Amino acid sequence: MTSETSPTKPQPPKHGALDAEATARIAQKRLKRVCPSRRSKVAERLKSIPVRARLGYLAAAAGKASPRKAIKAFCLECVCWDRAEVRQCTSLACPMYAYRPFK
Ligand code: SF4
Repeated sequence: MTSETSPTKPQPPKHGALDAEATARIAQKRLKRVCPSRRSKVAERLKSIPVRARLGYLAAAAGKASPRKAIKAFCLECVCWDRAEVRQCTSLACPMYAYRPFK
């Protein structure tokens, strides 16, 4: 058995490489996982979130993310979705401070 790979075979994009259209398609599927009583609120908030952060937010909002990823989404939302701001967070008393990503 050989493990050859065709150079022309398309490779699936890495998570960060999804384009806006692919992200929107996945986001619609994930939105359906959110509890119906919260879905419209989550969908409304989703509109204000940068495309690159939407899938992480939706996984957390649907209760399908790991605690680590939920904290990541929480911190990102706290600082308007700017990773550098999470890294430079000055809220030393925040209960998420020790767990914040991008340190
Ligand atoms: S650690 Fe900083 S960025 Fe994260 S939730 Fe707290 S205040 Fe916001």
